[in-house]
Amino acid sequence: MDISIVIPFLNEEPNLTPLCEELKAALDGIGKSYEVLFIDDGSTDKGVQVLEDFRKQMPQIKVVSFRRNFGQTAAMVAGLDYAQGDIVVTLDADRQNDPADIPKLIAKIEEGYDMVCGWRYDRQDTYLSRKLPSMLANRLISKITDVSLHDYGCTLKAMRKELAKRVTLYGEMHRFIPAVASGVGAKIAEVKVNHRARTAGESKYGISRTFRVVLDLITVKFLLRFHARPLHFFGMPGLALGGIGGVLLAYLTVARLFFDVPLGDRPLLIFAFMLLIIGLQFILFGLIGEMQTRTYYESQNKPIYHVRSTVGIEGGDIEDDNPQQSA
Ligand code: UDP
Ligand code: MG
Repeated sequence: MDISIVIPFLNEEPNLTPLCEELKAALDGIGKSYEVLFIDDGSTDKGVQVLEDFRKQMPQIKVVSFRRNFGQTAAMVAGLDYAQGDIVVTLDADRQNDPADIPKLIAKIEEGYDMVCGWRYDRQDTYLSRKLPSMLANRLISKITDVSLHDYGCTLKAMRKELAKRVTLYGEMHRFIPAVASGVGAKIAEVKVNHRARTAGESKYGISRTFRVVLDLITVKFLLRFHARPLHFFGMPGLALGGIGGVLLAYLTVARLFFDVPLGDRPLLIFAFMLLIIGLQFILFGLIGEMQTRTYYESQNKPIYHVRSTVGIEGGDIEDDNPQQSA
């Protein structure tokens, strides 16, 4: 299988037939074998029936139905898990992404990139609730993660299978796929893509998503930087605060013992103790984190590194021998 198209959907019944027609038009011409993997994220309409009907003209269609709504990220991860193609392309089911862009993304991957992200340079959404927050979020994510892209929210992306199988995501983190991918050392490119207004069905998100994105950003940043060394994250403020507390206490002790300064009415004493205790707490958090890191990597035999290629080593890289790795 050359190409897997992964499409999460929730209640997009009116969009599915036209989407499949566009996919067929875009994919039949490029001379590659492909599958179109639809992930039904707990839809309550007749979308799956529509897909089963269209399957008669397009046998490449496959459908995975969730038991309930688990969210777009979970649906996307399921798609990446089930995908069999060497290149995996993700897109929305609401027809805002244009399947005609898919060959462009694939060509870019074939130039040697591990991941290619769509950039909706002429985005067709409302300004205040979508484009403005998204613009700010894109700036922020670019600054904070080490990948700089114009558009993290665009679901239209292509990636190599090895990478797709290695992306672990939770919550609503699919927009951080590029950040996670760069964490495993992927080469990432960006391509301008078409974007269209939603003509049927309803958007599944409101403005509150913006705040969740900011919270997710904190998680992603933390995981990327300190996942394998949590004590470095917690220990620094721990040492600083605890150190200041310790010095203050030493000073107060000397003052009390050798210069007879009374301590009863000194707020500094409480402050010093507080700093010392908070500092110790930070260090203990860090140590618990270190134990968790070991549990995470060692219980699943996950390596703490990612190999691009090897020379003279039988059977490629060890990561591939380990089926757990893909989960
Ligand atoms: N979606 C999903 N599960 C959800 C919410 C959304 O699978 O819980 C799908 C939805 O059907 C669409 C895509 O994710 O294919 C993007 O959703 P939407 O168009 O509502 O987001 P927007 O474009 O407004 O940001
Ligand atoms: Mg949409």
